[in-house]
Amino acid sequence: MRVPASRPESGFSYLALGQKPPLTGSVLHCDRVPLPRLAERFGTPLYVYSASAIRSRVQDFEQAFGRVLHTLCYSVKANSNLGILRLLQRNRCGFDIVSGGELERVVRVSPSAAKKVVFSGVGKTSQEMEQALKAGILLFNVESESELRLLATCAARVNKTAPVALRVNPDVPAETHPYIATGLHQHKFGIPVAEALRLYREASRNKHLRIAGVSVHIGSQIKDVRAFARAMETVADLVRKLRIEGHAIHYVDAGGGLAIDYERGSASDFAQWVRTYAQAVLPPLRDLDLHLLLEPGRAIVGPAGVLITKVLYRKQNNGKKFLIVDAAMNDLLRPTLYSAYHRIAAVRADGKSKEKTDVVGPICESGDFFARDRELPAVGEGDLLAIMDVGAYGMGLASNYNSRPRPAEVLIDKKSVRVIRRRETLADLLRTER
Ligand SMILES: *Cc1c(COP(=O)(O)O)cnc(C)c1O
Repeated sequence: MRVPASRPESGFSYLALGQKPPLTGSVLHCDRVPLPRLAERFGTPLYVYSASAIRSRVQDFEQAFGRVLHTLCYSVKANSNLGILRLLQRNRCGFDIVSGGELERVVRVSPSAAKKVVFSGVGKTSQEMEQALKAGILLFNVESESELRLLATCAARVNKTAPVALRVNPDVPAETHPYIATGLHQHKFGIPVAEALRLYREASRNKHLRIAGVSVHIGSQIKDVRAFARAMETVADLVRKLRIEGHAIHYVDAGGGLAIDYERGSASDFAQWVRTYAQAVLPPLRDLDLHLLLEPGRAIVGPAGVLITKVLYRKQNNGKKFLIVDAAMNDLLRPTLYSAYHRIAAVRADGKSKEKTDVVGPICESGDFFARDRELPAVGEGDLLAIMDVGAYGMGLASNYNSRPRPAEVLIDKKSVRVIRRRETLADLLRTER
């Protein structure tokens, strides 16, 4: 199998190591770069991201929403690495932030990027509000009456006017993991629609607040787009009522939450999926003449990243098989935290037989696993595995549990390889302690 040099490779795929002997069969690549070469150069565990995969997903969103005035505000918490943010900023994205730390990252990438920042979250501090007011962000998504009052106080203190949207809670169920569903009244997020009118009136009376929009975010990894349609219908009704009362509603922020296909990966048609999403979001807003804000995180970066890990040991306990790998729950928490499923691939696919095994890390917790009873190619000690679709909520949720330094991150763009975060050292871990 030889791949012609002209073929535009993007994302992760098996390619022959073609050119140079020894010909070792088919090897998992990121764009044009073989993963074993990256493991050799940078060590494991290692996060590897594909720039072309990220760009192509941004373009899929841009095309699906091309008919309406819109801005993609990438949700920084999905993956906040400066290299990733820079790539997205260059592709004209704005940003959805949930902390002053995330704002600092965006401003480091480009001070002017603040103009396209929306600030979400139920617990903004006055310090964070003043930081965002001074940076001149696009929109505060306010989640409570108390927050609205504090924002007005902060804006008065720094002599600014805060652009405000209230994040409403549309009370729509979204079928996803309970920890990442946010659109029901029992969740801490948003303001009940019934109270929103009163709060908009209160905001309109304060000269340090400028009403600018309505926002909503119903959760993450949402697979049924009808939930988005229902939320948008609620928002559209509210926009009409607010306009009748004379409020200038310019923006509707539809939030993020579009699911990715963790089971099938790149075999699923993402462009079509985003069009399906647009067909749910757009009809309720028709004729409202709005500027639509979208806050996708996972859908942009999730499938654009893998975690390369090396098999340390093979082990059997009464016939049950384990692969003990050098990555652990501190490097990738999603399986432990959400019982999340991630495909796992052998980096070298050379017709190995299959076996049923657990893939586990070295940490002293039974929750430290990546897969249970999974049919995998029978790899040996020292072989490499790739845990797929970890570009979102992978490195962002990583910790130093068990005093393990966090992995390095590399960004691949066709043939170019850039370290966007070096591997942590033990000295890094101990630096802040006495
Ligand atoms: C987490 C979050 C997002 C992004 O969610 P994804 O599922 O990654 O698209 C968007 N908006 C808000 C307010 C969030 O909290």
